[in-house]
Amino acid sequence: MLNPYGEPSDGLSTPNPRQWMGTRLLNSQRTGMARCFIWALLLGWALGCAPPPPASPPNILLIVVDTLRADHVGLYGHERETTPNLDRLAADGSFFRRAYAQSSWTLPSMTSLLTGLLPHRHGVGRDPDVARRFGRLAPEIPTLAEQLLAVGYATGAIVNNVFLAPEFGLQRGFGEDYDYQGASKASIRSAEESVDAALAWIEPSRHPYFLLLHFMEPHLFYDPAPQVRGTFTGDGEPPIPVPFGSDRAIRVLKKSRPGPASEELEYLKRLYDEEILAVDRAMGRLFGELEKRSDWENTVVIVTADHGEEFFDHGGFEHGHTLYGELTRVPLVVHGPGLDLGEIGGVVEHVDLSRGILGLAGVPSDKGLGGDDLFSTIKRGEMLEPGTSISENTLYGPARLSYLDGDYRMHLLPEEKRVEIWELNADGLETRRLVSPESNREIERMKLALAARRGHLSASAVAEGPELSEKELSQLMALGYLNEE
Ligand SMILES: [Zn+2]
Repeated sequence: MLNPYGEPSDGLSTPNPRQWMGTRLLNSQRTGMARCFIWALLLGWALGCAPPPPASPPNILLIVVDTLRADHVGLYGHERETTPNLDRLAADGSFFRRAYAQSSWTLPSMTSLLTGLLPHRHGVGRDPDVARRFGRLAPEIPTLAEQLLAVGYATGAIVNNVFLAPEFGLQRGFGEDYDYQGASKASIRSAEESVDAALAWIEPSRHPYFLLLHFMEPHLFYDPAPQVRGTFTGDGEPPIPVPFGSDRAIRVLKKSRPGPASEELEYLKRLYDEEILAVDRAMGRLFGELEKRSDWENTVVIVTADHGEEFFDHGGFEHGHTLYGELTRVPLVVHGPGLDLGEIGGVVEHVDLSRGILGLAGVPSDKGLGGDDLFSTIKRGEMLEPGTSISENTLYGPARLSYLDGDYRMHLLPEEKRVEIWELNADGLETRRLVSPESNREIERMKLALAARRGHLSASAVAEGPELSEKELSQLMALGYLNEE
C-alpha cells in the first residue's frame, strides 16, 4: 500500500519531532490569526472601513549553481573574492551557515529540492545494484512547479545539466517553459546566456512567477571564460592542462599518490574559483536588471547549490562519491520582503527550503514532506538550533547514508557494515573522527534518532528508471558519469 508520495503507508509514520513542533506552533498561530482576523473585521466595521487586503504572493526566483561548495563563496569566508554580487545580496537578506543538500550529485539532490522529499522517498538516484539505472520521478509525486502552477504562478526553468533532462521527470509543472540545454564537459550554455534567457522570460505579465535558474560553470571542465580567466590564476604557465577535466587528466589526478602536488591542487582551486566568479558576474547583472523593475520589492530570490566539490579533503576529487561536508554543505542565501535577518547558524536542509517555497506561495504544507517550512520558521524568530539533516545516494561506489545531528555526523555504508562518526566544526564540516568507545555511544544515539526521522529502510531505494536516448547516454559519458564503476 503506497501513499501519494510512493512510500509504504506503515513504517514511515513515526512523527518527526521537528515537524510535530512546527505543526503545533502553526496550529496555535492559526488560532491566533483567526482571532486577529475577527477583531480586524469588527474594528473595520466599527470604523467604517474594510480590513487591508492580503499581500499578493511573491515572485520566487530559485537560483541553483551546480557544484558550488559553500566555503568557496566570499560570504562564507573564502580567501578570494569569488562572489561580490552574491555577498551584496546576502548583506540585505539572510544566509544560512549550515545548509545541506540531500545528496552529493545532481539527480537526487535536485529531485529533493523540487519535491520536498528525501531521496529514499522520491527514489530518483543511482541504483547501486543495476548498472546505468537511475530512477525517474513517479507521476503521483507532485513537483513544486506543479503545485505553484495550481495556485496561479507562472512557472519556468532554465537548466543546463543532463541529469535535469525531461526524461527524469522534473520538467513537470513547467510546461513549454522548461528550457533545458544539456551540457557536455566541453560545451555549456554560459551563465551570461542563461541570464539573458531569464531576463527574456521574466515579463511584467508573468506575476507571480516561479523561475528555476541553473548555472553550470563550476562543474568540470574547468575552463573559465576569457573575461574572468587569469583573475586568480595569473598569466603564468599552468602546472596542469587547461581546460581541465578530460577523463585522462582526471584519472591521472585521482590515481596520484599521496595526491597532486600542492601547486597543482592550488591551481585547480583557483580555476574553479574563476568559474564561480563568472557565475557571480552574471548574477550581478541579473540582480541589477531586476532591481529596476517595479515588482522587485515583492520578489524572493534564493541562491543555493545542488552539491559541492571535493579537492582531496577526504582523499578524493569531484563529487558524487561520498556525503562529507565538502560535497553536501551548500550555500543558501535568501533575499526578499521580511528576510533581512543576516546570518543564521542553525542546521537547515533543502527539503526545508522546498517546503518554505510552497509556504511563500500559500500552498498548504503537507506533513508527508521531509522538512520544516524554512521561511515561516525564521520569521517566527526560531533559528533552527540544533537541527538535523539527512543526505543519501551516491553516484559511485557502495550505497551511503549520512545523518547530521547538531555537532556530529554519522556516515553509514550498510553493504560494508561500516559506520563512521565525525565531530563537526562551526561550519558544519567533518573535522575529527571519533573512535570507540566514544563513538559507540554516539552511534547508538544517532541510529535511534535517524530511525525516528527516516524509518528503517534500505539506503538505496530507487524507482523505475527512464529509457535514456543515445544522445543522453553519450552526454553522461562525456561528463564522465558512466565510466566510473
Ligand atoms: Zn550537480
